[in-house]
Amino acid sequence: MNDNNPLLQPFNTPHQTAPFDKISEDHFMPAFELAMKEGRDEIAAIINNPEPPTFENTIEALEKSGERLDRISNIFFNLNAAETNEKIQSIAREVSPMLSEYSNDIWLNEKLFAKVKTVYDQYHTSPALTEEQHKLLEDTYKSFTRRGALLSGDEKEKYREISAELSKLSLQFGENVLAETNDFKLHITNPEDLAGLPQDVIDAAALKAKNENLEGWIFTLHFPSYFPFMKFADNRELRKKMYMAYTTRGNKGNNRDNKEIIKKIVALRLEKAKLLGYNNHAEYVLSERMAKTPDRVNRFLQELLEASLPFAQKEVKEVEDFARKTGFKDTLQRWDFAYYSEKLKTARYNISDEMTKPYFQLEKVKEGIFDLTNRLYGITFKRNSDIPVYHDEVEAYEAYDADGSFLAVLYLDFFPREGKQGGAWMTSYLDQHIENGKDIRPHISVVTNFTRPTESKPSLLTFNEVTTFLHEFGHALHGMLSRVTYESLSGTSVFRDFVELPSQIMENWAQQKEWLHMVAKHYETGETIPDELVDKIVAAGNFQSGYATVRQISFGLNDMAWHTLEEPIATDVTNFEKSAMQPTELFPDVEGTCMSTAFSHIFNGGYAAGYYGYKWAEVLDAHAFQLFKQNGIFDRKTAQAFRENILEKGGTKDPMELYIAFRGEEPSIDALLIRCGLKN
Ligand SMILES: [Zn+2]
Repeated sequence: MNDNNPLLQPFNTPHQTAPFDKISEDHFMPAFELAMKEGRDEIAAIINNPEPPTFENTIEALEKSGERLDRISNIFFNLNAAETNEKIQSIAREVSPMLSEYSNDIWLNEKLFAKVKTVYDQYHTSPALTEEQHKLLEDTYKSFTRRGALLSGDEKEKYREISAELSKLSLQFGENVLAETNDFKLHITNPEDLAGLPQDVIDAAALKAKNENLEGWIFTLHFPSYFPFMKFADNRELRKKMYMAYTTRGNKGNNRDNKEIIKKIVALRLEKAKLLGYNNHAEYVLSERMAKTPDRVNRFLQELLEASLPFAQKEVKEVEDFARKTGFKDTLQRWDFAYYSEKLKTARYNISDEMTKPYFQLEKVKEGIFDLTNRLYGITFKRNSDIPVYHDEVEAYEAYDADGSFLAVLYLDFFPREGKQGGAWMTSYLDQHIENGKDIRPHISVVTNFTRPTESKPSLLTFNEVTTFLHEFGHALHGMLSRVTYESLSGTSVFRDFVELPSQIMENWAQQKEWLHMVAKHYETGETIPDELVDKIVAAGNFQSGYATVRQISFGLNDMAWHTLEEPIATDVTNFEKSAMQPTELFPDVEGTCMSTAFSHIFNGGYAAGYYGYKWAEVLDAHAFQLFKQNGIFDRKTAQAFRENILEKGGTKDPMELYIAFRGEEPSIDALLIRCGLKN
């Protein structure tokens, strides 16, 4: 059976790409099983090696173990995201717990850690290793210690109990938010209550009602329903009703209340951090981030707040004044802000996606991005239809460097399909690394959900989609240009508050007329996008940027407050949150609402002590792009410096070091403030 399994044979394809044309679902499970066994044997060989542990026979051997498993996992999980079906989903359910067990067997293995520790103690200051080897050693050692490898027997037991309890609690938190979100429905039967809403929003609400065998229209707290309702519905009472339902989730004192769960989660995270030698959870998290310390993050948020708060206050006042002119007499409340802001925005800019879309043909945007990459880095792309793909619509390219050498395989998968997840992402099938002296070049993929072309119209992108394409392409360049030795340090394997720099910096070109003039041509007339339209897009993009910044900061401050606690809280959750977010307050307080009780990012996601990262990344990309603006947006030397210091380096060095090597100084917030109109 395994003899005929293409996943277990050498891939006889161009560049050893995945043989999608030969793989069927039935091949996965046997391949996973064999690859896991192979990986376990490799680990056993490291442990049972009678030679004294060395960097090569322990750290490097561990790094290389499970290579086949990685390859198969990448193919499988990428397919599960981009072209799935019930069979693949059921394999995913079966194999996921097996893979966590596999990884626990490595990272919780005491004998293996004993060997790693011996190497670490002996070599972590030794000049015998290269800088990259030091980083790999450090990272490997930390992967064990951050999971409690240095703890004594009793403490280990405690650590395991806390971890198990924490995963139960965050799951519970998430389930409560979901149940509370699903529980509420606004059922409208009087058509007058729909006033102000766009037709497609009304149609979707009618369909929802029909699916539930009800007359009229149903609105829910899910974003695609909630958000347009708050923006467009003329009926103020109903907006308030929706708002209250949304902001009291998890805070109603019912059996889905999250307040006690929050207290338990933060107390346990604190206990775990202390067990591992940190003062609080944020310190534990941030020691593996570019920002490094809670103090640095708090100063960062404070600095941004001081710069943006006066603008936010002015913007809220403008909306209030605008509302007054239309006859509004009450105090402006939170459920009024989005509504009047939308009206003000329309009055001021009068711009819509429909006006810009004809200028952004997908094919032309793609060529424009290839061309930009060529101007910056000298890279060229060649389509190769001999590379197997998992769906007819997927395009496969070879990327070549300026000197003609082969760089990477790039897959582009643009259009929505039933088996594809929503959104857009970059991923890899194979990461760059050196194997037996040979440079193994990566296989990278960009997946999006852009509008499909029709018989009469090409695929036309909104401005947002153009930006998304550039963003994901930036991640792809990070993967494609990687030039490191070890796979686990390759491409986008960097700290989380650094990984969005290569992607977000690309978004900047979407606002540059020099680039847009090459890319944005009307699909029927060929006319170049008018400069006034570009100016409007940029200005509308900066509409209420002060308010948006303050809002992000308020979430960041709340997150940091919970995770810098050094004692469990004595006060109640709502009061605690209020005092954390108070410096960002722009509206009158509303009794009964609570943000934390539905803050899934930090209580049921990976963003604990990490929410600041959204703004941090913007600061980085704006400050980094400033250098391109100074030297010319197509300047080869600046691009080369960005390539050598950031794109090629992956996670082989501390990100702040890499950043300073490129930029000559630490990031500062001014470039971002200028870009979004908060500073001259
Ligand atoms: Zn991204």
